[in-house]
Amino acid sequence: MSAKMEQNSNSVDFIRKIIRDDVRQNRYGGQVVTRFPPEPNGFLHIGHAKSVLLNCDLAREFGGTFNLRFDDTNPLKETPEYVDAAKSDIQWLGIQWDGNVKFASGYFDQLFEWALVLIRKGLAYVDDLSPEEIRQYRGTLTQPGQDSPFRNRTVTENLRLFHRMREGHFANGAKVLRAKIDMASPNLNLRDPVLYRIAHATHHQTGDVWCIYPMYDWAHGQSDSIEGITHSICTLEFEDHNPLYRWFLENLEIYEPVQIEFARLQLTHTVLHKRVINKIIEEGYLDGWDDPRVATLSGLRRRGVPPEAIQNLCRHVGVAKTNSTVEIELFEHFIRQVLNRTSPRRMGVLDPVKLVLVDYPEGKTEEFGAVNNPEDAQMGTRKVTFSRELYVEREDYREKPHRKFYRLTKGQEVRLRYAYLVTCTEVIRNNQGDIVEIHCTHDPASRGGNAPDGRRVRGTIHWVDCGTALNAEVQLLDHLFTEPLIGHMDAETAIQYFNPDSRKVLINAKIEPAAVQDLPGTTIQLERQGYFHRDPRKVNDSLSFIRTVSLRDSWKKIERRQ
Ligand code: ATP
Ligand code: MG
Repeated sequence: MSAKMEQNSNSVDFIRKIIRDDVRQNRYGGQVVTRFPPEPNGFLHIGHAKSVLLNCDLAREFGGTFNLRFDDTNPLKETPEYVDAAKSDIQWLGIQWDGNVKFASGYFDQLFEWALVLIRKGLAYVDDLSPEEIRQYRGTLTQPGQDSPFRNRTVTENLRLFHRMREGHFANGAKVLRAKIDMASPNLNLRDPVLYRIAHATHHQTGDVWCIYPMYDWAHGQSDSIEGITHSICTLEFEDHNPLYRWFLENLEIYEPVQIEFARLQLTHTVLHKRVINKIIEEGYLDGWDDPRVATLSGLRRRGVPPEAIQNLCRHVGVAKTNSTVEIELFEHFIRQVLNRTSPRRMGVLDPVKLVLVDYPEGKTEEFGAVNNPEDAQMGTRKVTFSRELYVEREDYREKPHRKFYRLTKGQEVRLRYAYLVTCTEVIRNNQGDIVEIHCTHDPASRGGNAPDGRRVRGTIHWVDCGTALNAEVQLLDHLFTEPLIGHMDAETAIQYFNPDSRKVLINAKIEPAAVQDLPGTTIQLERQGYFHRDPRKVNDSLSFIRTVSLRDSWKKIERRQ
């Protein structure tokens, strides 16, 4: 790690400074309670990972408690599958919440009681305006809003109507409950926000008990308050909501956590908004939430990205008060850093052509010892079989080589990794002129890969024995979007930058058998080609590997430029 990177990860950020001061001054009795509050309306992505890790780290560092709470206020967009997926993604990340999983829906009774409190105080009213009218009455950033004609209903009338809303007497959209704050406030969130809407819908946690549901803003701050959250950490877009949360908590006269905002994680060439990801799935550009090209946690897991790399990226980037976009190459750098240490090395040929050793006896096979990981001697060695016919990469042969091309070309000696020094003598072509066989001779004295006379052979290529090779499909991935700064775009705009080459499938790859014997879920390195992960969606049909990341680390170049 460079000095610059180390410095980043060691400095104390503004959130930790605030919490340290609070603990020192015994605010909240010296307690630290944090939470991660997802809405279960989609799968979690790497941006969420940043928030989960931050909240959990803070609780652990200060000896506090970390809650997982679903802010499940919208049964129309939420499903129990999203709840389950979020839980398993968080655990996969290496995070465990304290106590039971919590739900804002678990507080629906209390939230209803608190709505009655506001009505009784004359601070909430039932409004008959339609959603469209409410929007029109709200005004704009430059124009104040207008009072609803229903704003001055009596407390008694409001109580009666609100109870009738709850009892199911009205259709969806017929009425809402709104806070009575200030239709001229420069902060639009304070222009009489809606607290409850009618939705005759079954909720994944509460079933058919309710036909009115609290709005996110009405549920969020109070849920934090109920749970005794001390530091309610959220992303910058909630800064404008904070005055509203204060208004609710103060008027309800209940415990108030402090809210701290930080910048969202954004990566180049990808989108981190559930809504946008959902749309590109619906439009058929991705094969689901776990498509390995998208930065959802399930996509990254399917792709073979180790959770440690996600943790390292998020902790390295740290927290800031201004939005910025992190280069995806930095993420890839962290992926390589972990996989370089942990991945068993294997040999696999992505675009195979046959290499025939014309002077090697037919029917003979040998075994060579191959190192499983030069970074970790404990990973030991394995045997690779060798015979007269091998597969090598088509691109490792050149008819007219560049002067620095040290691989296969007529008359040039090259090393077959772990095996022999060989020299190409001729190539055989089919009627279309494509090479079908590369013929070579070998030097038997170079067994193991080096000549006894010490002559220098610069090029080393990988190979797989035809006799034992397994056929595999390989998915080569590239950026999801061609445009780097895509994070702020809506789905329709982003889709215009979809990279049609984001996935290339090769169906004829040849791999050594050891690549299949690795434990399920292991990300392997195919020498010279990158890191690969068996596609968990396809374990039952064919051998299919996804390239997690190639070997070339372009981050170093970018870092030098900065
Ligand atoms: P999305 O835009 O993907 O739908 P969201 O904010 O609506 O995100 P939530 O489920 O409400 O999704 O998010 C739960 C928590 O995760 C929130 O506290 C939110 O601030 C945080 N979060 C969401 N996206 C990011 C991100 N890119 N970086 C950091 N934190 C994030
Ligand atoms: Mg949200």
